[in-house]
Amino acid sequence: MTVFTSENLRPMKITHLGAQNCVTGSCHLVQTPAVNILVDCGKAYGSDPELPFEKFPVAPEKIDYLFLTHAHIDHTGRVPDLIGAGFNGEIICTHATKALLTPMLRDALSFSSRTDKQIKLLEEKIDDLSWGFELDEAFSLKKKITFKLKNAGHILGSCFIQFTFPAQPKNFTVTFSGDLGCKDTPILPDPDTPDTCDLLIMESTYGDRNHENRKDRINTLKKALDKALADDGIIYIPAFALGRTQELIYELDRIKTKVPVFIDSPLGLEITELYSTLEDFWDKEAKSLKSKGDHPIDFKNLYSVERYKDHKKLLNIKGPAIIIAGSGMCTGGRIVDHLENGLNDPANDIFFVGYQSKGTPGRKIIKKKTPAKAGIYTLTGYSAHADQNALISWVNAMPEPPKEIRLVHGEDNARKTLARILEKK
Ligand SMILES: [Zn+2]
Repeated sequence: MTVFTSENLRPMKITHLGAQNCVTGSCHLVQTPAVNILVDCGKAYGSDPELPFEKFPVAPEKIDYLFLTHAHIDHTGRVPDLIGAGFNGEIICTHATKALLTPMLRDALSFSSRTDKQIKLLEEKIDDLSWGFELDEAFSLKKKITFKLKNAGHILGSCFIQFTFPAQPKNFTVTFSGDLGCKDTPILPDPDTPDTCDLLIMESTYGDRNHENRKDRINTLKKALDKALADDGIIYIPAFALGRTQELIYELDRIKTKVPVFIDSPLGLEITELYSTLEDFWDKEAKSLKSKGDHPIDFKNLYSVERYKDHKKLLNIKGPAIIIAGSGMCTGGRIVDHLENGLNDPANDIFFVGYQSKGTPGRKIIKKKTPAKAGIYTLTGYSAHADQNALISWVNAMPEPPKEIRLVHGEDNARKTLARILEKK
């Protein structure tokens, strides 16, 4: 028998603490009378807002579970600070996310004012608190709340989360899409079909746009490479260390690039190695390439640039060459030195392959607010996010439409455009 208290009558409540109207800083809070769940705790980039922990509706020490949809920093970057602020609950994610979390957060922490010893302690703490779970299996939390993680196809280990809350209202189902990927992404299996739910909290990054399809995009990349390299210049590709870098290596391998390709990113290299060991999570195509003796993310003229002094040397290299370096939005990292060095040479080119948030240096270059003589290309086909058509078909694939959809993780136009289309349906 359940003890009747006024607490029991209070319904669950969901608050969006980050990435409500923009694409970085993801953080959502589910409050039930007895259990508090946070979904993602990401860092915001550019002019996107980050809510201070003091303004959270519940104090970090009262959060029981932190779910991580994937290991990108805009979904996980504030985890160390959340722990610093008192969080001591369980961190729940997929096995691959757990493996990727340590190098990602270690790298993020290296930019903070923490000492090596503090970083090491935090790493151990995160490792202690976090648990990798299987996809497609239902697990229970406190108070009979259950959850299931399903493949989101965005980066290795990415998932969407289906919760069932037994009370208030009864058996209420909530799905958090996290970041949804595209079909036919190199290395990754396609996103899973979602079950029906009462409330869907969905990302809308590209709610107002469609990407090129995969076949077109590899041709576009090949053509852009040929054009950009005709004058023996250097192509700079700012890329997220996790996901985009490995996809680019994969595709440059498939099109048999003849020029040297440099991965100038210690983190990108570490993650690429991890991707190689997490073979169980690859798609069929990548597995079959490997079984035929062609490693899908390694080739002859691919060079790793680990040490800082080699990075410095790379700044003087003559083209033709392709340099892949982080950060993806040019907010820091080795790409900044390369752009400073080569942005004003008309023989060079910059390929943007990922979303550039408002206020970031990457966005400023695309919008021509930063003077540049180098060629500037935006290859939309390389986005790790589902486009408008893919978002709509993902929702339509539910056996029954959700009773309510809340769009988050998108700028105004993207959210509004997608909302209009979904409403019509
Ligand atoms: Zn992401």
